[in-house]
Amino acid sequence: MRHRIAVIGGGPGGLTFARVLHRHDHPVTVLERDPAPDARPPGGTLDLHEELGQLAMDKAGLLAEFQALSRPEGQAMRILDTDGTVLRDWRPRPDDRANPEIDRKQLRDLLLGPLDVQWGRGVTEVVPGTRDGVVVHFADGRQETFDLVVGADGAWSRVRPAVSSVTPHYTGVTSVETSLDDVDTRHPDLARLIGDGSVAVYGVNRALVAQRNSGGHVKVYARFRAPLDWHTNLDLADVEAVRSSLLALFDGWAAPVLDLLRHGTVFVPRPLYVLPVSHTWPHVPGVTLLGDAAHLMPPLGAGANLAMLEGAELAESIAAAPGPGDLDEAIRAFEQQMWARASRWAKITTAGLERLVSPDPTEAIAHWDQVQPS
Ligand SMILES: Cc1cc2nc3c(=O)[nH]c(=O)nc-3n(C[C@H](O)[C@H](O)[C@H](O)COP(=O)(O)OP(=O)(O)OC[C@H]3O[C@@H](n4cnc5c(N)ncnc54)[C@H](O)[C@@H]3O)c2cc1C
Repeated sequence: MRHRIAVIGGGPGGLTFARVLHRHDHPVTVLERDPAPDARPPGGTLDLHEELGQLAMDKAGLLAEFQALSRPEGQAMRILDTDGTVLRDWRPRPDDRANPEIDRKQLRDLLLGPLDVQWGRGVTEVVPGTRDGVVVHFADGRQETFDLVVGADGAWSRVRPAVSSVTPHYTGVTSVETSLDDVDTRHPDLARLIGDGSVAVYGVNRALVAQRNSGGHVKVYARFRAPLDWHTNLDLADVEAVRSSLLALFDGWAAPVLDLLRHGTVFVPRPLYVLPVSHTWPHVPGVTLLGDAAHLMPPLGAGANLAMLEGAELAESIAAAPGPGDLDEAIRAFEQQMWARASRWAKITTAGLERLVSPDPTEAIAHWDQVQPS
């Protein structure tokens, strides 16, 4: 029996779900709000853990392609003091494949493969429990009905209200992102500072992190504790004003470190929001969530990994469920497994954010000493 299944959202979680179902010859409708794959910048690089994201790629039959594209050398991590002194310099062993990096665009294109995504299909509401099934309402006024709707539509999910009234709350930490292009040619000193992976500098309640993507592209994240309205007197569209305000915030830090901000082109503020660490909901037949929609947590290397593994696991259990009763049982079991694992990671990443943007910068070093292989 073929269930009518829709996944809302074509991020890492939704696409992995669809790709694994596709591998099992099960039809799935992928509904994505973006009008086209390249409608907006894809975001920074992702590290896929062996036991999470890489396992999901394996379930999708894409592990070899991932290994060919990913950058194991991107696992390198250097920590500097605010005066520029190198405090730590970890480099991966040549055979280390625990957490290699991949650009989001490369990952998305791998997952997309043969999938027939419906672009430009923004969902506004999902109504379960009707006679015909679960009704999905779209921004253009249309509606469609399915047996199962999977909300993989990220932090501000429009599917979540069908199962839970909880909404994300601000962590007290804001991240302002900027980037550098062609760093090896245009900024060779910064290229050396960043190395093959990431460089991080920790001060009192603030941090600067730069991470190499492929093709000489570098993403820079200025993170700091601040109220949500920290930019009230700042025109966020005024690049020079935002740059000056960040340079003032990191005043006194070593010149090469501040060059990461001086050479940044566009600045994008992202207040970091999270869902409660143990977010669950009473099971609703016909609707479930995965990824950030279910368990938004601080961006410390787990969110995409979890979303992908959840997508793969849910798809496998659906493919193995022959009838409507089995489908509901499979989803209940999936939710229990997802909640337990996500809650563990939410605790880890919440504690991590507290230490990485902390009144005591030695906490950040202690954090990395614990998580980096010696
Ligand atoms: C700076 C930064 C660095 C990070 N680094 C890492 C890392 O190294 N490793 C890691 O594992 N995680 C990392 N994360 C976290 C990771 O990006 C997210 O956890 C992950 O993208 C979640 O995937 P998802 O598929 O659940 O949701 P998303 O990636 O948010 O995808 C949701 C999709 O749904 C679509 N959508 C939204 N609303 C609608 C709607 N109403 N109708 C239709 N479609 C809709 C969106 O357009 C989007 O395509 C990082 C996050 C940040 C901010």
